[in-house]
Amino acid sequence: MVKYRSPAGMIVRGWTVALDPAPEQAAVFRRDCGARRFAYNWAVAQIKRSFEAGRETGDYDRDVWSGWALRKRWNQVKGDVAPWWAECSKEAYAGGIAGAVTALKNWHGSRTGKRPGPTVQFPRFKKKAKDRLRCTYTTGALRVAGSRAVVLPGAGTVRTAENIRALWRHTRRGTGRVLSATVREKAGRWVVSLRLEITARRRPPPRASTVGVDVGIGNHLLIVMHPDGSVTEKVPNPKALRACLVELRRANRALARKKEGSPRWHEAKRKLGRVHARVAAVRSDTIHKATTRLTKTHGAVVIEDLAVAPLTRGLRRHRKAWADAAAGELRRQLTYKAAWHGCDLWLADRFYPSSKTCSACGQVNTSLTLADRTWSCGCGAVHDRDENAGTNLARLPASQAEAPSDDKTAPVRHVAVKRVNHPGKVAA
Ligand SMILES: [Zn+2]
Repeated sequence: MVKYRSPAGMIVRGWTVALDPAPEQAAVFRRDCGARRFAYNWAVAQIKRSFEAGRETGDYDRDVWSGWALRKRWNQVKGDVAPWWAECSKEAYAGGIAGAVTALKNWHGSRTGKRPGPTVQFPRFKKKAKDRLRCTYTTGALRVAGSRAVVLPGAGTVRTAENIRALWRHTRRGTGRVLSATVREKAGRWVVSLRLEITARRRPPPRASTVGVDVGIGNHLLIVMHPDGSVTEKVPNPKALRACLVELRRANRALARKKEGSPRWHEAKRKLGRVHARVAAVRSDTIHKATTRLTKTHGAVVIEDLAVAPLTRGLRRHRKAWADAAAGELRRQLTYKAAWHGCDLWLADRFYPSSKTCSACGQVNTSLTLADRTWSCGCGAVHDRDENAGTNLARLPASQAEAPSDDKTAPVRHVAVKRVNHPGKVAA
């Protein structure tokens, strides 16, 4: 698939908005999402048949690697396999077929080692109960129609559950246009993810400051440090988040007590899904405010690259898992906001021992465990774990500049850090 590229001076931004559809509009969404699943399963059947025929007769059907070829075939047979096809959006079928081809390519990439990350399975049929309802529209009646309304193909004008005046302003001024809309059911609610192409704002003047950001698992969600070891900012874990965590543990326990597959189990699972969604929303909101501030104020931000989840148990694993989720969200937001605001984002190698390295003398304390919140170094320095990590991160870009990697006489320092955004680049 060819990725859409914006013309100069334009950037693509995404917004996810909760919807408040009328029952008949929700029915349209559900019908299109069902049609998408039907087309996905039809395409998976073509793929399976091609592989089976290939194994038996050596005659592979190459068309299954092309979304375009499969769509052509779908249009020839849809009258027979889906006589009701005209009732749903044609984009539902296109989306389902594209999804199946992507699943096939992901599986192939994973098998041949070209795709990083966890192993991807061969495309399978989606069962109705397990499919996550979603459908993407890219053409037809598709626009923001007010500070609380969007127009979507099929459903017409749908009320939004939140105010979208920022999007409405772009529409009114002619500085933004909707490229696509994906409706999705999320924890019992309908949401729409809108992609808009908007006019890029003027770039802010360059800033010299560099900060290192560590994700905490204690009272603070983010710890922002200056290279000189002083605290620039600490973002506390919001109270709402801690309350959600208690509720999350309760919902998890309730689910574990129910018989799997029973009506009560399904009810408990839905409830857990809602709590998860709220936790993610509160965390994301807190991080959004911080990342906007960070990328607008500083010239460079250094964070750790995503770490592989360690094998820890019990409460600590719980806390670690969700510090990892926060780290993932932090990185995601910084990646695009750094580009918007002309800030450099640096990623430290995930094996760089940011917590274990003494920021005063450079010694690495190999005996430091996750439970140690403070530690003292042989040189006499006493460190707060998170502050020390942030300080080390903040110093990485400068230390890399002064110590070329081929200079064997330089002190051995792990400075594997890479810059992901360059000044002058507008879009993420
Ligand atoms: Zn030391």
